[in-house]
Amino acid sequence: MGIIIKDLTKKYGEQLALDKVSFSIKSGEVVGLLGPNGAGKSTLMKSITNAINPDSGDILVNDFKVSDQPIETKKMIGFLQENNPLYMDMYVKEYLEFVTSIQKVEKSKIDEIIEKVGLTPEKHKKINQLSKGYKQRVGLAQAIISSPEILILDEPTNGLDPNQIIEIREVIREIGKEKTVILSTHIMQEVEALCSRVILLNKGRIIADQSIEEFKGQYRSLE
Ligand code: ADP
Ligand code: ADP
Repeated sequence: MGIIIKDLTKKYGEQLALDKVSFSIKSGEVVGLLGPNGAGKSTLMKSITNAINPDSGDILVNDFKVSDQPIETKKMIGFLQENNPLYMDMYVKEYLEFVTSIQKVEKSKIDEIIEKVGLTPEKHKKINQLSKGYKQRVGLAQAIISSPEILILDEPTNGLDPNQIIEIREVIREIGKEKTVILSTHIMQEVEALCSRVILLNKGRIIADQSIEEFKGQYRSLE
């Protein structure tokens, strides 16, 4: 169970985005994927969710090969994209009803999910009336509404103000107790705040894979 990545390689033309990346994530781990812009984080996440095709290597999600069973594996994963697109003209509840109908999930789950991500006070508003932090909660609701075992979050606090960051991290921490999470970010503090393990990616390669305690120790010694 969990996720196994083996020798994953992806080129865009001449640009090598992932270079034989291998790692595995156990069920229930909350793993930070840390790296600067261009490191390959998005390419890796898009490969896991089958949004792009890697050139070579294998991805196993709960023992299913993504390349062989793309639909089944995608159903096991909730994905919050960076700058997650939302239908701004819809009301929060209306939008989540729309999501449930696409994903063929029971509508009866909506209120529980709204509560879980802290959207209750805003649930009758239109999405374009919400603050960025609340828009991000709608994105999180969308990602978990089908009860996926795995959650992939791409830069989940980007563009939020400090208070919104604290609140969104609290929601992620709660959701993370019940799921396997991969969280991509270029911010060290985000990984420290939320993850139990960090995979450091640079120029398409893994340059470190360690527990958050080891990571903090090394990072402090650099300060
Ligand atoms: P990150 O998410 O860490 O910023 P990306 O996976 O987006 O990294 O990018 C990895 C590398 O691949 C970068 O050099 C980026 O410019 C390049 N890249 C990503 N997507 C494309 C694309 N569609 N076409 C060409 N190059 C791309
Ligand atoms: P991220 O840092 O999250 O990967 P980017 O701004 O790098 O976001 O990429 C936004 C979109 O542009 C993505 O779909 C990515 O695949 C594409 N892209 C990124 N770099 C390049 C590039 N050098 N050439 C063409 N497309 C790119």
